[in-house]
Amino acid sequence: MSKIKVLDKHLQNLIAAGEVVDRPSSIVKELIENSIDAKAKHIIVKIKNGGLDEIVVSDNGEGMSKDDLALAFLAHSTSKITQAHDLNHLTSLGFRGEALAAIGAVSNCEIISSDSHGSYIITNKFGKISKIEAQSRNKGTTVSVKELFYQSPARLKFLKSVDYETALISDLIQKFALSNLDINFQYSSNDRVVFNSPGNNDLAELLFNIYGSNIYQRLRKLEISNYDFIIKGYISDSHYSRSNKTGINIFINNRLVAANSLIKAITTAYSDYLAKGKYPLVILKVETDPQLTDVNISPTKWQIRISKEKNLNDLLISGIKGVLKTQSEAQLISTINSLEVNEYPVTNIKKEEVKQEKVVYQQLQLNQTDIVGIEPSTLELKPEVIGQAFGKYIIASCLDELWLIDQHAAQERCNYEKFRQAMLKENPPVQIINLPPLEVSLSHIQRLKEINEKLAAINIQFEEYGVNKLLVRSIPLWISQIDVEAFLFDMLEYCCNSDKEIDITEIRKATLASLACHSSIKFNEILDINLQKALVNDLLKCENPYHCPHGRPTIVKLSDKQLAKEFERG
Ligand code: ADP
Ligand code: MG
Repeated sequence: MSKIKVLDKHLQNLIAAGEVVDRPSSIVKELIENSIDAKAKHIIVKIKNGGLDEIVVSDNGEGMSKDDLALAFLAHSTSKITQAHDLNHLTSLGFRGEALAAIGAVSNCEIISSDSHGSYIITNKFGKISKIEAQSRNKGTTVSVKELFYQSPARLKFLKSVDYETALISDLIQKFALSNLDINFQYSSNDRVVFNSPGNNDLAELLFNIYGSNIYQRLRKLEISNYDFIIKGYISDSHYSRSNKTGINIFINNRLVAANSLIKAITTAYSDYLAKGKYPLVILKVETDPQLTDVNISPTKWQIRISKEKNLNDLLISGIKGVLKTQSEAQLISTINSLEVNEYPVTNIKKEEVKQEKVVYQQLQLNQTDIVGIEPSTLELKPEVIGQAFGKYIIASCLDELWLIDQHAAQERCNYEKFRQAMLKENPPVQIINLPPLEVSLSHIQRLKEINEKLAAINIQFEEYGVNKLLVRSIPLWISQIDVEAFLFDMLEYCCNSDKEIDITEIRKATLASLACHSSIKFNEILDINLQKALVNDLLKCENPYHCPHGRPTIVKLSDKQLAKEFERG
């Protein structure tokens, strides 16, 4: 066996860099954390080409003295803790003293800092630290990072597209702005200002600014506490959902953390209100005694260990459920008040859904002729529709059978087949539709090129329209018969979730799933007898009328014989 050697400092820093600064966004994270720890109230972040060409973070914080600056690039040099005891009482974001050393090991990094007694510059080029020299600057610090990973080709290869890396940084900066309401963040990418937070302590204004008015309207305030934890923030109501968890933002003592158990608690609280695979938008700040948390469990400080975690989870679940319950009760009362009693005897329904879905259904019937592949056997059947039960099932009799038809599953099947036929047509007619611009997130705008490339497969194209908005330029004609907006949001999320190339079959599958969902009659929806008949009629024209696209049955049949047995008639 070869002899054990102690690795030289540069090699140690390179190894640390592998964990601490694995991509441009983690460098931005470390630099912003340093600025926040230096009590800056104004932080400017500039990136070029997703941070690969340049990252500059400037602040108006306390700055560093000449002596401190001389030590800043050395590993394990920190001003934030001095003894083991401090680790249990952390109030700063940094404490490991390894970020600047790691960044300097993998880039050409320069720091200019002034603590108002003097201002100096120091550089670290791939581990070679320069002498300190005088350089003028106002109080505060500027760190610039260039030639990132030039000497670590393996790391470069691991990075995704420039658009993807830019989107990660944009998302991160918005999250910092959400957790530091008193700081003005100014962020520009390729010399264009893309985000400027007000820094006026107004969370509501910032949420409006980041998410736009439509989503803002869907947010509800949550404030709840127990002996150990205070939770404050906003959560989306049951009318809003996303296809991934990136909208769940949790800050513990102002630190953005990836707390899987809390995310699980949040999804549990929403499970009665959102479909499976759908997630809310959540911005929650948890305050607790630092002694109850341990952030020193991963170099990137994303992970956190919380004592009394179950206690926190329970508080979170009951708080969220309480808000959602109040919202749905308020909605039910307004629905009941606005319904004419004789018209809708069953009141367990949502008014908006009834209105919207009926229109959709009527539109669908106009295109019945699109459905091909009709099975003569089911077409020959002429069931007699008797009525609807519980706002869920259509009851019909056919020859010697009684049918119970799941109205939601049935319509999903009809829509699925109709859309599939339309989608598979070559050169489907495309229309320029007149939808109002969609308010989207910054990452959607920044990944627009990639999104358009992916969605070209289904003839959908977007165009940038002002700040945080996208205009739909083209969409296949047949798609416009559904809740187009909800469908387009689904597709944007889908494209942004997959950074790899998606093949056309996958895009089509995702499209069909979203379309079938956004156009189907809901459970708990009253249908008049004509709509009931039309739905059964359409179902029987399907290629596979007996199962919904997810494989669940659409019709349960009870034969006369079975019924006779149940009634003990011999
Ligand atoms: P840590 O943040 O864990 O202490 P870093 O390597 O990120 O380690 O930074 C090393 C030290 O450099 C910090 O402890 C701090 O004293 C100083 N420093 C870094 N960035 C700034 C800044 N923007 N303003 C003032 N001081 C800074
Ligand atoms: Mg730091």
